[in-house]
Amino acid sequence: MRYKSILLFGAPGSGKGTQGKILGAIPGFYHNATGDIFRSLDLQSEMGRVFWEYAGRGQLVPDEVTVKLWKQYIQGMEMINSFHPETEILVLDGIPRNLPQAKLLEDMIDVVKVIYLRCADLSKMVERLRRRALKENRFDDANDEVIHRRLVEYENKTRPVLDYYPKEKIHRVDATMSQIRVLSDILKVLVPVKEKIDVQQHLFATPTRGKAASATSAATPAAVASGDTTKKTGVVS
Ligand code: ADP
Repeated sequence: MRYKSILLFGAPGSGKGTQGKILGAIPGFYHNATGDIFRSLDLQSEMGRVFWEYAGRGQLVPDEVTVKLWKQYIQGMEMINSFHPETEILVLDGIPRNLPQAKLLEDMIDVVKVIYLRCADLSKMVERLRRRALKENRFDDANDEVIHRRLVEYENKTRPVLDYYPKEKIHRVDATMSQIRVLSDILKVLVPVKEKIDVQQHLFATPTRGKAASATSAATPAAVASGDTTKKTGVVS
């Protein structure tokens, strides 16, 4: 099954993470930020060292490593019953970040919309990144040279990904507006998309395990494995 996905697209500092976190709190959406996966790695591990090496220079981590890590992570989330692809739309933030990644992910994600957080004012983004460096202790935002390199990487490698997806799937949102206005514009696009997918999934539904369902009527793992979700655990909501 390919994961139904929304891509949050935009330059560093355009607000993908901020909006992604809000969307991920809405039932039926699951937010996943590649940068957060990388930052959660042990920096002493092989993968952690690779991340540090590239991100510290403002460069993208090599594609094979990135996509492999992402696949492992998302499948892990599915396995531990945190992400429910039958009922949840994946909100991807930070991947794919170039054309090879878009192609490598093709067999795993079904991109239903691309939300392009557009910011024409470069100085505004640089300002946001500087502020974030202080607030979130982000080493890759800590100096202007690395910030500049990240923005160049975005222009050269990431922005061309927009041409890979059909024009009708791409929605531009002005990222310089207030956070609540940006959110409102995103929701105008996503509400009908979600409702349509829900109708389709309902039509072809097999018993599902959505966020709400698993919290209130959790079936035993053995029952889930056997397909009999009427056998409940002792969880009472
Ligand atoms: P931002 O929020 O500024 O866009 P992220 O937190 O998404 O930054 O990413 C931080 C760093 O992690 C990137 O500069 C890059 O080195 C690495 N990274 C994140 N996602 C990817 C990806 N899809 N491919 C390669 N490198 C990535």
